Amino acid sequence: RQPIIAIDGPAGAGKSTVARQVASKLDLVYLDTGAMYRAVTWLVLQKGIAIDDECAIAQLVSQCNIELTPTHDLQYPVKVWINGTDVTQAIRTIEVTSQVSAIAAQSAVRQALVKQQQSWGKKGGLVAEGRDIGTHVFPNAEVKIFLTASVSERAHRRQQDFKEQGQSEVNLEQLKQDIAERDWKDSTRKVSPLQKAADAVEIQSDGLNASEVTAQIVKYYQQ
Ligand code: C5P
Repeated sequence: RQPIIAIDGPAGAGKSTVARQVASKLDLVYLDTGAMYRAVTWLVLQKGIAIDDECAIAQLVSQCNIELTPTHDLQYPVKVWINGTDVTQAIRTIEVTSQVSAIAAQSAVRQALVKQQQSWGKKGGLVAEGRDIGTHVFPNAEVKIFLTASVSERAHRRQQDFKEQGQSEVNLEQLKQDIAERDWKDSTRKVSPLQKAADAVEIQSDGLNASEVTAQIVKYYQQ
């Protein structure tokens, strides 16, 4: 089997940029598992199902088909499809972002998506990024990274992303609150909470850019 690199960490720590760069440097496939939870959330909202209707959501997730295809677009490095609809951009809205943690806390949703991720990872060759990759999805991954940054650093990075997309009016305090709230929900849920695997290397990325973090991960992989 080819290697698997697992990158976990809280919201906005830079996991997607770094995972994409590591995958490209090592010629592995980039797997964005957050995009899968976001796609299910988008579908739940689109169908008008209540966020706490776990039965209806379990039924929905058991029948849904998610496809991820890598692209060369830096802003949207993976194209995401659910039941044939392209939701690449739709899953990044504030609405989806604010509801995704509640959907990702439901065990039927996690079981279905983890099963799909593990089947994609059977032959290895992945850089998988999420919250439970090193602890739960691929506990035997060759390299496990726990990527963090302070809330303030993550909020500043998010603000910068928004500015680059032409939205300069986003409020920094609001971003900090949103990030802290999602961290809290993701790390206190009952099923597979966000957690550093015992054998993961922690990288605290305040003051480091994505290329510097990527270089560190590639070095761990080659050691
Ligand atoms: O990484 P991203 O911010 O896109 O993830 C969106 C949400 O999906 C997270 O806040 C978390 O609730 C959930 N998630 C998860 N397990 C993963 C990846 C994401 O619970 N492996």
